[in-house]
Amino acid sequence: MRTRRDNSSLIVQVPAKINLSLRILGRRDDGFHDLETLMVSVRMYDSIRFDLQESPLVQLTSTSLLPNEKPLPNDDRNLIIQAAQLLQRTTETRSGAIIHLNKRIPSEAGMGGGSSDAAATLVALNQLWELNLSQEKLHQLAASLGSDLNFFLDSNVAAICTGRGEIVTPVRVKRPLHFVIVKPQSGLSTADVFKHWTAHSSPETPHHDEIVQALESGGLSQISWLVTNSLQGSARNLSREIEKSLELLDQHDIVVSGMTGSGSACFGLCRSRKSANRVARKIQSLGVMESWAVTSGV
Ligand code: ATP
Repeated sequence: MRTRRDNSSLIVQVPAKINLSLRILGRRDDGFHDLETLMVSVRMYDSIRFDLQESPLVQLTSTSLLPNEKPLPNDDRNLIIQAAQLLQRTTETRSGAIIHLNKRIPSEAGMGGGSSDAAATLVALNQLWELNLSQEKLHQLAASLGSDLNFFLDSNVAAICTGRGEIVTPVRVKRPLHFVIVKPQSGLSTADVFKHWTAHSSPETPHHDEIVQALESGGLSQISWLVTNSLQGSARNLSREIEKSLELLDQHDIVVSGMTGSGSACFGLCRSRKSANRVARKIQSLGVMESWAVTSGV
């Protein structure tokens, strides 16, 4: 998360993520799933501006900088508003904010845009409203809003996330990773994809030690072995575009293809930034799906 401050306003750049591997360990009694996932931040950013209000008013407007995206709700269905209101309830602050979101991370894509926006809101308003909440307290609030927020809260480049995703163990990545992303026109709701998951559709996936070793080696063939996703089966059943996206990626010069999170975005791991740019340009020129080249990092 990158921030820029001038007096009573803050502008924050918040990154997206890719799940290189995602393994579901089982369904829990509370309705969530236990999982083990390797998340990597990528340099595709939403930008959020926060302007301090001396009254408790919290108001959001948003602009989508992406073609074909459904407009986002600006009311309390938006995670940014939920994060701001949670801070107000927790601290009883009388401060408010006028917030503007410039959206570049596609929604219903499995790229964590909503979670990243909400994590950034907790950090930014803690600063702007001078609340002095500890990082530990922010983590507690983050976990109550969603499962992916904790990963974004500490600006991790890569981490293995367990529990329902909120227990974050940072891991080192020896080299920057270059990806090409493709996003089908239709999105997939995270809740729907989890609902259709069955243990039967889960592939074999690498374990913690294998993940750490592969990332520390920096070798692309070792890293390519990490790419698996327990949710791919149910996402494929819900949308034929997942299969099409993976096929499209596999027709190009990539090391391995996979789906991120609960989809619908898919990615190809590339040998270099140049190669990722080339593949993204080629796919974009076909005019069937949006495509971007991105690099790991915060
Ligand atoms: P995440 O990985 O953050 O959960 P996702 O791309 O996998 O995102 P969903 O979990 O399905 O997709 O969440 C997308 C839904 O969340 C959309 O219906 C959208 O309206 C809602 N939403 C709420 N706040 C935001 C936000 N700030 N950015 C994007 N989507 C948001």
